[in-house]
Formats: sequence, C-alpha cells, structure tokens
Amino acid sequence: MNVDGLPLPPNAPEPRTCWRIERPRTGLVRLVLDPPHRPKLPLLDVPTLRDLDLALADLADERELVGLVITGRDPLTFAGGADVEGIGSITNDELARRVVAEGQELFQRLHELSKGGGGRVFVVAAVGGPVPGGACELSLACDRIVLANDPKTRIGLPEVKLGIVPGWGGTQRLPRRTGVPAALDLILTGKLVEPQKALSLGIVDRLAQPADLVRIADEIAMGDRPCRRARRSAWKRWFIDRNPVAGAVVAHQAYKSVWKRTRGHYPAPLAALSLVVRAPRMRLGTGLHAERDAVVPLVTSPVTKSLVGLFFAAEAAKKLGEFDGRKAPAIERAAVVGAGTMGGGIARRLALSGVSVRLFDLQPAALDAVKREHARDLKQRVRRRRLQQHEADAAYDRLAITREVVGIARTEFVIEAVAERLDIKRQVLGDWAARMPPGAILATNTSSLSIDAIAEGLAEPERVVGMHFFNPVDRMPLVEVVRGTATSDETIARTARLALDLGKTPVVTRDVAGFLVNRVLGPYLDEAVRLLESGVGPERIDDALLDFGMPMGPCALLDEIGLDIAQHAGASLAAAYGPRMQTSTFLARLLEHEFLGKKSGGGIYLYESDARGRRRKRGVNPRVGAGGRELSHEDIVDRTVLAMANEAVRALEEGVVEDAATLDLATVFGMGFAPFRGGVLRFLDALGPQRAVDRLRAIHGSPDVEQATHRDRFAPAHLLLEHARNGAQFR
Ligand code: NAD
Repeated sequence: MNVDGLPLPPNAPEPRTCWRIERPRTGLVRLVLDPPHRPKLPLLDVPTLRDLDLALADLADERELVGLVITGRDPLTFAGGADVEGIGSITNDELARRVVAEGQELFQRLHELSKGGGGRVFVVAAVGGPVPGGACELSLACDRIVLANDPKTRIGLPEVKLGIVPGWGGTQRLPRRTGVPAALDLILTGKLVEPQKALSLGIVDRLAQPADLVRIADEIAMGDRPCRRARRSAWKRWFIDRNPVAGAVVAHQAYKSVWKRTRGHYPAPLAALSLVVRAPRMRLGTGLHAERDAVVPLVTSPVTKSLVGLFFAAEAAKKLGEFDGRKAPAIERAAVVGAGTMGGGIARRLALSGVSVRLFDLQPAALDAVKREHARDLKQRVRRRRLQQHEADAAYDRLAITREVVGIARTEFVIEAVAERLDIKRQVLGDWAARMPPGAILATNTSSLSIDAIAEGLAEPERVVGMHFFNPVDRMPLVEVVRGTATSDETIARTARLALDLGKTPVVTRDVAGFLVNRVLGPYLDEAVRLLESGVGPERIDDALLDFGMPMGPCALLDEIGLDIAQHAGASLAAAYGPRMQTSTFLARLLEHEFLGKKSGGGIYLYESDARGRRRKRGVNPRVGAGGRELSHEDIVDRTVLAMANEAVRALEEGVVEDAATLDLATVFGMGFAPFRGGVLRFLDALGPQRAVDRLRAIHGSPDVEQATHRDRFAPAHLLLEHARNGAQFR
C-alpha cells in the first residue's frame, strides 16, 4: 500500500508497530491490532492499514501458514471503523479515490489469501465490542467471522450516517453473505446490531463468549473445529438476490422507504441501494469498482461535510466533562425532585445509566407511575436484547421512590423538575441544599426561569446549575448545561460529565431567557403560527419544512409540545427580549376551547387513538380556518427558518454558546434542524450571508409583516450584516 500523500495522523508510529504477530503454534498466526498511537479504541487509519499491508506481505511467503486469525488487543476491543478525522480531511476527489482504492485493494489481498478467495490460508476474524464500518468490512473479507457474545458488541455498516456508503467492499460482501434484503436494511439505516441478531442475519458465522473468542477462532482457523458459513438458503439466493425482477421489486420498495425518510436530501442511501441490489449479480471486482465510483463524490459532498462537522462537534462536547485536565468524577448517587413528565424520564435514565437515584414527589400516584414505566421500559430492553436480565433488575433497584426528604446525606447531585414557578423551585432547592453534603450540586431543569434568580439566597450559588433536558428525555440527545453568574467551572464539568454518562451530548449555554434552543425555536414556531393566522394551511406549512429537512413540521411540533406550554414559553421570551419576540394571539384562541395539542386530542390538528392507544393525526382542526392561502414552500421556509437563523446569529453575537459549531450542534441535536445542512449557521453559510440579509429585508418590508413589533424580528442581526459586508462565513 502506497501511503505517500495519504493523511497520516500527527502521532503516527513507526512502520510495523500497529499489528502484533503472534504464533501460538505451528501453522497458525494471529494478527493482533494493537496500535501504539491509539491506546483506547483503535481506528483503521493510514498507519494501521499500512502495517496490515506490511504484515500480509510478510505472511504471503510463509509456506507453512495454515490458519490466520485477525483480532483486537482484547476480545471487546477491535477497531472503531475508519478514522473519521481522516475522512473529514479529504478535500478532493483524487485523494478520496486513492484512500478508497488502497483500502479496497488491501482487503482484497486478504480475501485472495483466504480459502474463500482461492488462497491457501483459512482466515478467521475474531472480533467484539464495537465493530462498525471499516472494522466490519475487514471482517467480511475473511473466511469466517466469530463475534464476542457480549452486550457491548455491536456490528454493522453505519457509513450512511456520515453521508457516505461503505467504500472498502461492504456494499458487495455484505449482501453476498446475508442476502440483499438484510444488507439493504443494515446499510440504508446504518444501524449496528447485537450479536444474536448478527448471527441470525448471517453477518457472522458463530458467537463465542469473550473469554473463549480467540481460542475458538484459532481452532476454526486450524480446521480443528467445524464452523459452517452462515449462508442464506439456495432458493432465496436464487429467487431474490440473483433474479433481476425480484431485485427490481426489492429496490423499488427500498427506494420508496428511503425517499419517505430522506426526501432526497441524502444521496448516500440511494447510492448504496443501487450497489447492494446489483451486488449478487456482479463479479466482485466489478462491484468494487462500482462501489469506488459511488463513494468518491460522496466523501467530498456538502452533506458529508455537514455530518462530519456534527460528529466532531459532538466529540468536542465530550471534553466538557473534564476539569483540571481530567475527567470530572462521576456522580454515583443522585436525587430527582418532581416525578412528572421530565423528572420521571430523568430519574429512569439515571438508574439505567448506573446512578443510584431517589425520586421525590408529593404525589404517590406520580411516583408509582414512574416505577411502572421503568419496569415496562426495562422489560422491553431485555426483550430487544439491549440488556441482560440481571442488568435490568439492577437498574430497577437503583430507582427508589419517596415522599420524604430523607436518606440523602451522601447524595452528590439533585435535579429539580417541579412546576415552573420561581418560588417553588427556590424553596425546593433551599430545602435540599440544607440536607445534602457539602459540595453537592443543585441542578434545575427549568426551561424559562433564570438560574441566577433560582440561586438567589442559596448559601453556595457556585453549586447551582441549569441542566435542561428536552422532552422526551429518552429520545432527545441534547442537554443544555446552563451557567449562572456564580456557577463554578467544577459544577459545569461535573454536570456535563453526568450528561455524557447518561448518553447525552451537553452544550454549555449562558443564563439567558430560553437558553439557546428554546430561544431560537421561539421565533420559528411563532412564524408558523402567524402563517396559519394569515390563512396558510398547517399541512402546507409542515410540508414545506419537511421538504426543507426538518424531522417534523412546526405545526405538528407545536401540538407535540402542547399549545399551553408553547404559549407559556413564548410569553417568557417576549418578556425577556421585548417586541421582536412578541407572539401571535392565535394560539390563545385555540386554548380557550381546550385545544392543548396532541395530549388533549386536538390542537392545530385533531387526533384519534388507534387500537394500541397511540394518538394519530385525524385532520386539521376546523377552528384553525380553511387554509386556502397558497404560499410557496420557499416563502414559508424563508419566513420561519430565517426568523430562527437571525435569532441564532444574535445569540452567537452575545456569546450564549462558545462558538458557531456548538450552536449548530445544539440546533441539530436539540430541535432536529436538518442534519444534512449541518446546523442553522452552516445553513446561512450555504445560503450566503448577503442573500440571507436580502431575504430578511424583503420579508421586513412585505405587507405580510405589517406590525412594527413583529417586523423587528427580521431586522438583520449585526453580525450577519458584518459577515455579508466582509464576505465572511460563520463556520
Ligand atoms: P409536570 O407537571 O409533568 O411534573 C411536575 C411534578 O412535580 C409533578 O409530579 C408534581 O407533583 C411535582 N411537584 C410539584 N411541586 C413539588 C414539590 N414542591 N416537591 C416535589 N414535587 C413537586 O411537569 P414537567 O413537564 O415534568 O416539567 C417539570 C420542569 O421541567 C419544569 O420546570 C419545566 O419547565 C421543565 N421542562 C419541561 C419540559 C416539557 O416539555 N414538559 C421540557 C424541558 C423542561
């Protein structure tokens, strides 16, 4: 492999140091991936690929070699796939083509050495822990794959999540193993599967307990232990995979479902679809060429740049959990006050993540409901093999419910999620502060009150912090860690560490009304309401924003949030920011008639319950009006998204978050802003700041926006004007 000009990591080690060659017995070699420059999870980067190439070259001449086992430095550590930093640094198609081609050729040489590829050595991959992307592709090039049967193991090809398709043979080798339908499902969704599922789909050939993994692989490689290749039945291969008519039907179905999910914004799943469906009918070499041609333009596409940018911003967020140069100590015991929608979700998540938690509420019914939901959720996780029974039992036991503020002398962290009233929150935190040990952190999940106001009068305001989760806690990946004037760095780091331990991505924000996400969401949602008021139908508005790439239209989102909660949030933004955040009175008219949104059976839309008790949209609420006004999708997007983007620039100007990348991350993870656009500021960059200014001015002057107060919202932010003048970009 010629590595000249390929992106080497700065700490690249000397050649022949990344793979250890072990010879446990005559005829058997183990290649152990153990790169010195990656002490945690190794990646397939230029040095590890270079050294695999050198090792294969050395082994090619060994006449007595019978079996080869490819494995990691321990049973649950193989490789975390290709180096994303490397992917991000590829800026031209020529380099992309070389990286893809070198990797393909290397894996192909391994394949040719193997029995399945016509060679003389039986090659077995013995892998476990995370085995994504390139790590999975390397395994697929072997004769057999033995996978460590452990809850930490996950295998799959998640490349589409970065906007690309598998480029080192995955689109060709996976369908040959599993058949087209299963390969499509895996590659188009990018999901990673657990060991049992991997075995039943035929991705791997055998499972082994981690302690036995390498020994069993050794035996298989040497022919001492039979291990049949997990293959699809011959008739399925013939009838579905090799038959062009069946292929066309499968492709059509998959195309429809990809289109529904992506609305054509993500080119990778469509490219992958075509490769996977044709794979069993092509020679491997031809298929690899087609894969190469498909992946190269994707690597340098704007979608990949956006998705890789988000990946790095999320990685950078992990540093927030550090204090004094090392990881802040983990929270082991926590308490949650308030067992409602949010408190219940937070307490369950804490217990699931290994934290012992006491959940306190005045209402026994609320506490019981959380415990029931906890049991139901854990049972489901066991059924889906996400947890083992003993782990679920332990998670159940970690959540204690109580109506007494007792047993908290060793509790290090309390988060309150009681009613949104300053007096109650102050009183709750004051009571708890007095009973908790010195140094314990007092967090609030408030969405609209000031952290400073809540901390006022408390003995140690440096211990008070906002920890703003989003609803539903289980699914929303973002947590805003809100820094009050007195909050200490240590409190911030420990809170961020806790968010990370809960599997969330933290962003630190200043203590301003709405923090970051709700502040920028406010004008967006209010513009949607104003469009409704002006006679544009909610379905038209939602459709325009779905087309833009939002996961849900703003009218459906308002119903989901609850019109009462949205109105309350809007009022607090207006109180803080004045006229430009003044909201329309339209929602109040629906609220007068008890239309609170989905939870009450009606809001902007009407809902009905299906057989499983889930609320489904039934149609538009007649009280919303006929909705006959035809406004173009572009105009709808301009009004709503530019109102949000302009506010986002103001927040950036005020330093509400540290930088533009953090702001973008918060908009994607906190509100689902179209990920392929990379966040709201990257969207402004793509549009061009000058064009954004022109469009804002056009809206500002349009007869639609006649109220002077409302117009303020569209006065371009200073920083946007400055960027337009200087031709600068936000990212
Ligand atoms: P909720 O009404 O569902 O639950 C509040 C719970 O607090 C109730 O069970 C109530 O019995 C309990 N409670 C009230 N006073 C108490 C006290 N003095 N001591 C102990 N328990 C008490 O409310 P929610 O929607 O879960 O919201 C809670 C907090 O989270 C609010 O500050 C809200 O602004 C914030 N928040 C809500 C959302 C959301 O979408 N619901 C999102 C983010 C943040």
